[in-house]
Amino acid sequence: PLTTADLIEEHRICVCVRKRPLNKKELSVKDLDVITIPSKDVVMVHEPKQKVDLTRYLENQTFRFDYAFDDSTTNEMVYRFTARPLVETIFERGMATCFAYGQTGSGKTHTMGGDFSGKNQDCSKGIYALLGMYFSLGRQVFDLLNRKAKLRVLEDGKQQVQVVGLQEKEVKCTEDVLKLIEVGNSCRTSGQTSANAHSSRSHAVFQIILRRKGKMHGKFSLIDLAGNERGADTSSADRQTRLEGAEINKSLLALKECIRALGRNKPHTPFRASKLTQVLRDSFIGENSRTCMIATISPGMTSCENTLNTLRYANRVK
Ligand code: ADP
Ligand code: MG
Repeated sequence: PLTTADLIEEHRICVCVRKRPLNKKELSVKDLDVITIPSKDVVMVHEPKQKVDLTRYLENQTFRFDYAFDDSTTNEMVYRFTARPLVETIFERGMATCFAYGQTGSGKTHTMGGDFSGKNQDCSKGIYALLGMYFSLGRQVFDLLNRKAKLRVLEDGKQQVQVVGLQEKEVKCTEDVLKLIEVGNSCRTSGQTSANAHSSRSHAVFQIILRRKGKMHGKFSLIDLAGNERGADTSSADRQTRLEGAEINKSLLALKECIRALGRNKPHTPFRASKLTQVLRDSFIGENSRTCMIATISPGMTSCENTLNTLRYANRVK
């Protein structure tokens, strides 16, 4: 298991993978676990250990990341190795960004801690809340930007990105943060039959802004990305679904390129390629920008196609 001594401190980009346990639905259809985390930074995709008639042969594949979290890892542990090490950045005029990337149902919202749907009313242990608690306990006041309305992204003449319809609220304690997240989440899911139906088609951006003497000093962005399986939508019969699928594809590809550019100190960052990367522009171009990606994966054989796509994407980010 990971210990605090394993912390990687100096990375501009940290990429990790989190495997969740098989859920009730998967167990009920006797889905089998095809993911093993043999050490703290390795993920293996393999045939199930049980003897089964395989409909398809699954070739063993091994991936290495900064961290690999197995299905016994708690949110608190994930937080300690991902978002927590980025905190200092925003006190040094920097930009910190943490993404959850993966297929719908793989644990993005669980990890970020913003799941207020159904029975999962308790988000107190997710990254949003742990980070919120850290700030409200440690450093008095911070501003919080919460995406509520439909956003319009405009670039003005001075190449500053403006997000129209954005709300910014001052918060003073952990409860304030949790309340705002709840409001934000209810907006995200309203009018939808299920939380996942909608969240699989939208990126949720939650930002903590640190101001000193009224000026922005640093920013922490937490992003619960749209489900990465939406690529299939591009062949959907429904035009709206098709367009959404195409936009999600585009934004996830742009995101990968922007993070890669950040890691390579490239002069050109292709942030204009999507709205998501436009909104996050200053997180990619700053001298002092650090990013962490948490790729969440389902353990089941029925998900292995999507899981491999997620692992390949995460592998390419760095
Ligand atoms: P996503 O946001 O990626 O669509 P969710 O976070 O909503 O997925 O997770 C789907 C379901 O799996 C939820 O019921 C969630 O509570 C559960 N789950 C996800 N990750 C874990 C985990 N690491 N441990 C236990 N349950 C998990
Ligand atoms: Mg979700």
